[in-house]
Amino acid sequence: MKAWQTTVDEVRHCTLCEPELPLGARPVIQFHPSARILIAGQAPGIRVHRSGKPFDDPSGERLRSWLGVDKPDFYDACQFAILPMGFCYPGTTASGDAPPRAECADAWREQLLAQLPHLRLTLAIGQYAQQWHGQRLPAIKPERTLTERVKNWRAWLEHGILPLPHPSPRNNRWLAKNRWFEDEVLPELKAQIAQYRGAQ
Ligand code: SF4
Repeated sequence: MKAWQTTVDEVRHCTLCEPELPLGARPVIQFHPSARILIAGQAPGIRVHRSGKPFDDPSGERLRSWLGVDKPDFYDACQFAILPMGFCYPGTTASGDAPPRAECADAWREQLLAQLPHLRLTLAIGQYAQQWHGQRLPAIKPERTLTERVKNWRAWLEHGILPLPHPSPRNNRWLAKNRWFEDEVLPELKAQIAQYRGAQ
């Protein structure tokens, strides 16, 4: 077994923070070292926890339309690695989804990223992925809000990271309020995806 396969196997059997998970450990990731694009999301929702397939929900439908890819390509691990900040469903709080378990990134993220030698573009979706991946960009002034980070997308993209809002239907209000995202960012996102998938 290759080193990356051993790591993925260890992730799939991880129970590190299981006592804190309402439905137990069920890590949901997609990984192959050939991937040139990383989708760094938040954590699986209840639907994804049940199916075991990342972005197998309305958020995934919108994300695929943003990227301009269909399901077969999206679920091709040689094109897209999918590593949320927490690999297991963390439950909910009174205000919505619980945050991804911090233990997860501490335990797994660096070693998985080290096994993506062809990585060219990281999509940092939502505040948790942006905070973690943004720490690796000392040249970027730390913005306070998600809106500020997404507005500053050109500076991030110079470092191979594109900050995006979460594609969840819960963000419809943000998307309606920030039309510039659709006008400015989505065309560039589609162009980047096409470039790194080798379609252009
Ligand atoms: S969330 Fe991450 S650290 Fe916790 S059990 Fe799942 S894979 Fe392990």
